Amino acid sequence: MKIVSTITEYKNARRQIGGSLGFVPTMGYLHEGHLSLVRRARSENDFTAASIFVNPSQFGPKEDFATYPRDPDKDLRLLEDEGTDLVFMPAPAEIYPEGYSTWVNVEKITERLEGAVRPGHFRGVATVVCKLFNIAEPTRAYFGQKDAQQVVVVSKMVADLNMNVEIVIVPTVRESDGLAMSSRNVYLDPQERQSALVLWKSLQRAKELWLGGERRADAIRSAMTAMIESEPSAGIEYISIARPDNLEEIEEIRSPVLVSLAVRFGKTRLIDNMMLEA
Ligand code: AMP
Repeated sequence: MKIVSTITEYKNARRQIGGSLGFVPTMGYLHEGHLSLVRRARSENDFTAASIFVNPSQFGPKEDFATYPRDPDKDLRLLEDEGTDLVFMPAPAEIYPEGYSTWVNVEKITERLEGAVRPGHFRGVATVVCKLFNIAEPTRAYFGQKDAQQVVVVSKMVADLNMNVEIVIVPTVRESDGLAMSSRNVYLDPQERQSALVLWKSLQRAKELWLGGERRADAIRSAMTAMIESEPSAGIEYISIARPDNLEEIEEIRSPVLVSLAVRFGKTRLIDNMMLEA
């Protein structure tokens, strides 16, 4: 496994790669969710590359950039064990040198959900993903369904800007009790970790209601709200039932919908989602 930290080194290594390249962008502190992306990339491509970069531009001024969990040595061991060929781990100044001034802004879909609560977040995401694609030159890039809106935003950017990369979406990997794996789960104290199960439980409840014939988004949202509010440490940021393509809220469920939510447990903010489709 080759590990590089500069764009020049990456480009040199990339030139040695013939055939297809699967690319997995991450912010590190890797878990099974990330590794499922790497495995999928490996199974579909001749070579596999990953990046580890905690992207400062996608964090708000009051968010956890400085304290975001990091363990590069462990990450590299895990990537090596998965058979990754190339790892790009740049310093912030390599990606945003002094005087950096170009930003990618995907309109409309970035204003809802995560974008409404985290202004500027998707500008940072779209910009770094665009830059990483230009640097990495992947055939395919792998993203987790866990970050459902990110998948929609990245896919829209790739389509709108005619980028030459195929976006592959990989299902959410969960702990055995249903909690979606996330690097931020380490912030949870034992009691919050227990409370956080309500995310998955409320999504299961939504599915149950829908399978039972409920088609009113409001009714499903109310049932989820009641369930989450019964957890004393949970603070709901949003519960959304929306069209998966443009993330517009819907009233009556007629075609596949994306149920997504963001909930705070103490200082930790968690997101999860589920598709309801026949
Ligand atoms: P992050 O390091 O949080 O930026 O995540 C890097 C990639 O891993 C993103 O495409 C995420 O959607 C994906 N990912 C994170 N958690 C999971 C999970 N539990 N299951 C599947 N993919 C995930």
